[in-house]
Amino acid sequence: MIKTIPIFNRDSVAQEKPMMLENFKDELDYELLQANIFREKILSCILILFVSIILLLNIITRGHEQLDYYISVRSFHIHIVLIFIPIVFLLLTRKHRRITNENFKLLTVLHVLMNTSVLILCAFIAINNEIINQRPFAYVTAMFSIASLILLSKSYRLFAFCSSYAIYITGILFIFKNPSVVFQHVLFSLPLFILALIVSEINYSAYIRNYMNSKIIESKNQELDKIYKLTEQMLAERTKELNETIEMENIRTAFFANISHELRTPLNVIYAAQQMLDLVLKDTTHENQKEVIQYTRITKQNCYRLIRLIANLIDITKIDAGYLQVNLQNIDIVSVAEDITLSAAKYIEDRNIHLVFDTNVEEKIIACDADKIERIILNLLSNAVKFTPEYGSIHVSIEEKEGCIALSVKDTGIGIPPEMKDSIFDRFVQVDKTISRNREGSGIGLSIVKSLVEMHNGKITVISEANKGSEFIIEIPDVYQQDVEEVKAYNLAAEHQYIEKIHIEFSDIYD
Ligand code: ADP
Repeated sequence: MIKTIPIFNRDSVAQEKPMMLENFKDELDYELLQANIFREKILSCILILFVSIILLLNIITRGHEQLDYYISVRSFHIHIVLIFIPIVFLLLTRKHRRITNENFKLLTVLHVLMNTSVLILCAFIAINNEIINQRPFAYVTAMFSIASLILLSKSYRLFAFCSSYAIYITGILFIFKNPSVVFQHVLFSLPLFILALIVSEINYSAYIRNYMNSKIIESKNQELDKIYKLTEQMLAERTKELNETIEMENIRTAFFANISHELRTPLNVIYAAQQMLDLVLKDTTHENQKEVIQYTRITKQNCYRLIRLIANLIDITKIDAGYLQVNLQNIDIVSVAEDITLSAAKYIEDRNIHLVFDTNVEEKIIACDADKIERIILNLLSNAVKFTPEYGSIHVSIEEKEGCIALSVKDTGIGIPPEMKDSIFDRFVQVDKTISRNREGSGIGLSIVKSLVEMHNGKITVISEANKGSEFIIEIPDVYQQDVEEVKAYNLAAEHQYIEKIHIEFSDIYD
């Protein structure tokens, strides 16, 4: 039994709330601090190295008037502090590789102090350099290094940059009393100051954007993971059910095959006894002989019906299991079709139905299984007889077509409603399923016919109109098997065997 599994709803695992920065505020603060401490450590190393080189050069060039002009360090003590601050920073942060609740505050203070003090010290150095050579490189370098490397939030950025810039401008006002010189310095430094603020903002927002993107990707991955797990679970359930169904189907098929064989054995015995009784009855004179013959005829007819039903059941189990195979021989299909049709002629005409056999080709040797072709024709003929009223007609014809042989069984019977045309080839499908229907049948015949035609790589179609009649056309490919010997004269089964076959195939039709 197939259980219904709820259809997987993607929305059920989708993120309900949109991704908001506020959702990650705390996590982001930790991430930012972690990134900043790491970058500041690198910056500290560079600073120590750079200032040390400057101080060293200053010691070496002391006394050289020309060189002194460029690298003179009058504010020696500020440079020493500028080396001292990153060293202290490195020492204090040395043990804190990861940000935790405990060290968060301490590291935040260190991060603020480090950047602000470097910026302020560089502003002082720049004021000092203005006096020597009018070049505020130290401050400009510090501003852009910090703006592009350190991730500063808006408020902290404004605090650190504005306070250091205020110090620098105050220094300038003290050094240069002349307003036009002061104005020139402001004109030079202000755009750089604004540019540094913009660089810092770009740097910061790019980081936030990347962070949010990584969060979105992370959440999508989690979503995909959930979908994957759900799909995997569903697949496992489906596979389990499928295996159960296959197992059930195998048990059912095995049961069918078994029961069919079991039914056939006693039936054969009854049938044989019935034939013996027939012979005995013919030779004896009995006062009730007529009635006994009538009863034995009914028994025989029902034996045929059971034989046919069981044979069909065995065939469908064989078809399902893939055991039923065609034994292809190069054979004259025209004579096979003609012989089997004509052998049923008497039976059909006894029911006042006119039978016509027609062919546009005298002989056509193709690769086919004569036994199976006979079963196909007999089945179609028995249906035609079953569904055609007295004084109707049945037309069997063979036509050689481009690449195939078309075999048609056409009747003037009750026809098939259009909506049933496709389904009548399915198993157990009957147009009239009512118990009161006046024709017997199990609904298996046409499905077997279709399988037999398909085993020949052929196809079966039906043209029908209600109350006008039906035409079943089978098309068998016109192929010749090279590696198989040709069956020159198809020696039809002995006449009594034929009659037997017809009795069995037409057993659903009562006299
Ligand atoms: P059944 O044993 O019931 O005849 P079949 O598989 O041979 O089973 O046929 C399935 C159904 O197709 C029949 O019950 C009948 O309703 C319809 N059918 C088949 N052949 C004809 C025909 N020649 N004319 C009208 N109906 C037909």
